[in-house]
Amino acid sequence: MKELDRKRILVTGGAGFLGSHLCERLVDAGHDVLCVDNFFTGTRENVAHLLPRANFELMRHDVTFPLYVEVDEIYNLACPASPVHYQYDPVRTTKTSVHGAINMLGLAKRVRAKIFQASTSEVYGDARVHPQKEDYWGHVNPIGPRSCYDEGKRCAETLFADYHRQYGLEIRIARIFNTYGPRMHPADGRVVSNFMVQALSGEPLTVYGDGSQTRSLCYVDDMIDAFIRLMDAPDGTCHPVNLGNPHEVTMLELAGHVLRATDSSSEITFRPLPIDDPWHRQPDISAARALMSWEPTTTLDAGLRKTAMHFRERLVSGVTSS
Ligand code: NAD
Ligand code: UDP
Ligand code: UDP
Repeated sequence: MKELDRKRILVTGGAGFLGSHLCERLVDAGHDVLCVDNFFTGTRENVAHLLPRANFELMRHDVTFPLYVEVDEIYNLACPASPVHYQYDPVRTTKTSVHGAINMLGLAKRVRAKIFQASTSEVYGDARVHPQKEDYWGHVNPIGPRSCYDEGKRCAETLFADYHRQYGLEIRIARIFNTYGPRMHPADGRVVSNFMVQALSGEPLTVYGDGSQTRSLCYVDDMIDAFIRLMDAPDGTCHPVNLGNPHEVTMLELAGHVLRATDSSSEITFRPLPIDDPWHRQPDISAARALMSWEPTTTLDAGLRKTAMHFRERLVSGVTSS
């Protein structure tokens, strides 16, 4: 890489599932990467393979506190993402999204860095429009058990939009739909990690409700590709952009795919549907397609097989689902 193209890049939440894949991609591209994490759901092991690299640095830090560093770009991913973890300490979750955004935006403003926010399809809540397009304002309960996450992320989007309008910051807002792959926390209660661990250890797969609710699942490599393309999109691309795989499946169908990917003969068992569980979710990715010629290329079965290989290795060390 030419010295001029080499950037100093901060990744908050860099030791988590998506963050560790992003750090890896940026380090491989030759950038100087500063990974900041408080290790709430992320782990050192997720980035241990990057520690020997001269262009990678790991710092324990909580984004709810100010951070003074000099960087060219910021990817703000710090925030627990699974319902089990973000509902563990809901006040802290909102603080992480809101105070974290304020601190990272303040940092971006001081050093004139471009800043990317990992937002979420949850800003659409239990959507009344299907598939979801960026101009849909959402249907979100402000006071329910998921609100700390949904409203925290919505407020972060507000802050990003206002720092853009008020201070001319170059921002990126990625509305990320369900993403899965290696290094998902095996006990974070998300559907793919739960089904994987259950299928591989011969336990019944826990389908919530009757399993007819849908999600659209994107493999991690496709998502990281989209992050980098969005960050590199032309100046002024400051509106939210949906990122995800439009291929939609019911949770019962997903259970079947996981059983096949793991060669498992586990049974399926039904559990109560969590409160405010969104019914349908599918991204309209026409904006991402037009803007950055991007669309996911990994099929669900191929992605699940790669994920299964990772979980098989993890199971040797004795982890279980939540
Ligand atoms: P993750 O839980 O694996 O990663 C989050 C990381 O942030 C962890 O390493 C955690 O330790 C760290 N963190 C949490 N609070 C922090 C704080 N206060 N200060 C510093 N670090 C902190 O989850 P993920 O799936 O990798 O999600 C990454 C980002 O993408 C999150 O912002 C999440 O909301 C967003 N997102 C993910 C998905 C998905 O399907 N994976 C979907 C939508 C949005
Ligand atoms: N901040 C930070 N790093 C910096 C600059 C600012 O963490 O390099 C934090 C600081 O805590 C501040 C917040 O970002 O409270 C918002 O900064 P901004 O300049 O927008 O607002 P102000 O300092 O006026 O509150
Ligand atoms: N789910 C399920 N079994 C599980 C975990 C989750 O059926 O063991 C369902 C959950 O009710 C939801 C979907 O799978 O309808 C996706 O859940 P996840 O927590 O992965 O993500 P989110 O609800 O945030 O999209």
